[in-house]
Amino acid sequence: MNQDAGILKDNALRSTLNEIMPKALTRREFLKIAAGATAATGLAPAVRSIVIEPFVHPPEEELPGQATWYASTCRQCPAGCGIIVRTIEGRAKKIEGNPLHPLNRGKLCARGQAGLQVLYNPDRLKNAVRQSGGRGSRQFEPLYWPDALDLLRDKIAALSGAERLAFLGGLMPSHAYRLTARLLEALGAAPPVIYDLQSALEGRSAASQLSLAFFGAPDLPEYDLSQSDVVLSFGANLLETWMSPVAQSAAYGAMRQGRMGRRGLLVQFEPRLSATAASSDEWIPVKPGAEGFVALAIGRIIVEERLGHVGSHRSQAVLYQNVDVRDMSTASDVPVETLRRMARAFADADRAVAIPGGYLAGQRNGFSSMLAVQALNLVVAQVGRQGGVFLSNPGPTAALRQNPPVNSFDEVMDLIRRMKAGEIDLLLVHSANPIYELPAAAGFAEAITRVPFVVSFSPFVDETAIWADLILPDHTYLESWGYQVPSPGADRPVVSSQQPVVRPLYDTLAAADVLLGLAARLGGKPADALAWQDEASYLEETVGELYGSSLGAYDARTPSGFWALWHQYGGWWSEKQIRREPELTDVVQKPLAISDPQFEGDPQDYPFHLYPYSSITLTDGRGANLPWLQEAPDPMTTVQWGMWVEINPTTASALGISDNDVVQVESPHGSLEAPVVIYPGIRPDVVAIPVGQGHQDYGRFAQEVSGSNPLTLVAPVTDPGTGALAWGATRVRLKPTGRKQFLARLESLDGKGRESLD
Ligand code: SF4
Repeated sequence: MNQDAGILKDNALRSTLNEIMPKALTRREFLKIAAGATAATGLAPAVRSIVIEPFVHPPEEELPGQATWYASTCRQCPAGCGIIVRTIEGRAKKIEGNPLHPLNRGKLCARGQAGLQVLYNPDRLKNAVRQSGGRGSRQFEPLYWPDALDLLRDKIAALSGAERLAFLGGLMPSHAYRLTARLLEALGAAPPVIYDLQSALEGRSAASQLSLAFFGAPDLPEYDLSQSDVVLSFGANLLETWMSPVAQSAAYGAMRQGRMGRRGLLVQFEPRLSATAASSDEWIPVKPGAEGFVALAIGRIIVEERLGHVGSHRSQAVLYQNVDVRDMSTASDVPVETLRRMARAFADADRAVAIPGGYLAGQRNGFSSMLAVQALNLVVAQVGRQGGVFLSNPGPTAALRQNPPVNSFDEVMDLIRRMKAGEIDLLLVHSANPIYELPAAAGFAEAITRVPFVVSFSPFVDETAIWADLILPDHTYLESWGYQVPSPGADRPVVSSQQPVVRPLYDTLAAADVLLGLAARLGGKPADALAWQDEASYLEETVGELYGSSLGAYDARTPSGFWALWHQYGGWWSEKQIRREPELTDVVQKPLAISDPQFEGDPQDYPFHLYPYSSITLTDGRGANLPWLQEAPDPMTTVQWGMWVEINPTTASALGISDNDVVQVESPHGSLEAPVVIYPGIRPDVVAIPVGQGHQDYGRFAQEVSGSNPLTLVAPVTDPGTGALAWGATRVRLKPTGRKQFLARLESLDGKGRESLD
């Protein structure tokens, strides 16, 4: 610890930091010197050279055989957990959770651990390339970075109008998003469209719209699990991939065991037994699309029976005046007695919270169902109360509030329409793989062929990059600078920092430096809007606005001292808990109503509901190129290196299907074949398929696993309330193929082990 940098307010934090991160300041200075040396080559800010030299003159903080730890941010999913990375002699060896970080407090999930295999993946692009044989040819020729930037500048300069430029982003670093948005604005182009499958499965854009309607602010809600006594989760896989699963898992542990004499109750309403449902006290298999009906019935019972501690419920009676509990019971397949029992448990608890999850948002009645669930928190007066619902803190400065939003599926469809109509001449894609991540029926694969020039920033040749003219590979997140304002966040304002833990392995270039170099080449307004020398100087200035804040967990004596502590800590956050209490709008002053769920496909022809769910290991498929994650067994089926279709034993018996039988799953939009896992934890009218496999590109580990992408089946329909993809609103039918494919499983569900898989 460089004590000149500042004063740590907390002795415990200081000793932990001394133990784990003693040398970040000197290293940072080293990196700055390295960047300065590059500038002398005349290529800055667009290019930083890679120093090719033996380890004879190691960086000053490196001692042979001794570990150096660097704090940064995990980018394997949108949550933004703090990490510390152990490096030895310039190589990253191990990733752990940052014990100081208020979001995940030292914890990490398997996907976070596997980040090393992103960095050292053998299928990374090693330099900028262009497809010499044309798009889709897979024939690449290397390109010098200055030539690549000149080419991109020429393409932008040749556009007949700025509206012919489009940018599609996914899980982008916040600073790269802000620089992109500034560049597009300076050019007069439309703002970036941000969309990724994981966020769609979580229902992020719908949750943001729900917050806006309910609380008057678009920031995502935070549910105070750790202090709650009763949690009703409506399709939120809290302990797997939804929103901030590591923080939620820690909070769940605190709810169950962290309080003397108080053990919280978790009830999970969803059609399939997820790993979260398996950890709950009670799993209630609701009819798909009927979760909101359950919430309405519970609310009606609370109001009718004047349950709980909040008086007469006179003001809420209007919400449920049209609700008939028996009708709701029939519509949802949840017995009236169960609904009454849930209502009493929820209302009688001192602290209770209801959570509208991703599966709810993925229905065509999603918004009204989410509204009904959120209204339960109002009925038991848990809005802004301990154990209830709060709002995420926004970024602490104006610049740090400009983070990537999540656009709706309707907005993506509008982009696809413009591409198909020939209205887009130049498409830039960063951190998104829409050909894999969007429903095939959305038509992105066809639309991209109508765009004359496409540029991808992917570090890997994925399904979309293969249709790009140029691939300008960004650094991986362990080689990159950056920051993230986690949303949902912690119990206080947090900005998580990102820094390179190793030098970039290859001749890749930070997308932020590409944007800055491009703006400098374009001159005029773009150059004025992006007038930073390089990425690091942009970040130093932006993050430097936090210097001097009285809220911070550490005091710095100088701006450079603040910059050092920012990296040593792994970001900036408030020393004290600051909960943001939501304000209520008048959205819940009228009777609540939810339309019947609608599904694509005639029930006579397509008798089953398709449930494509986010894989706990591969998430939305971005982890499929990492062998550690392919090897990790799925917690419910123990399958490794594969994909499968989950079918209820009753359904399987009616169709004459056994474990490992290959079935054809067909929807009105496509079909796939996959082996069956007979799964007792699923409704008989539902078939579930994990998302993540079925890659055509994206490297050897993703491509060599047999499997299909369930997005080929999904109808491109939306919830009219939010414009979000109704990914749970497709019906399918099943047909045995007569073939078998034995899945690699640690054990079968009958508990007999591998031997039972005859
Ligand atoms: S929850 Fe997401 S951000 Fe956190 S460790 Fe896991 S993959 Fe990384």
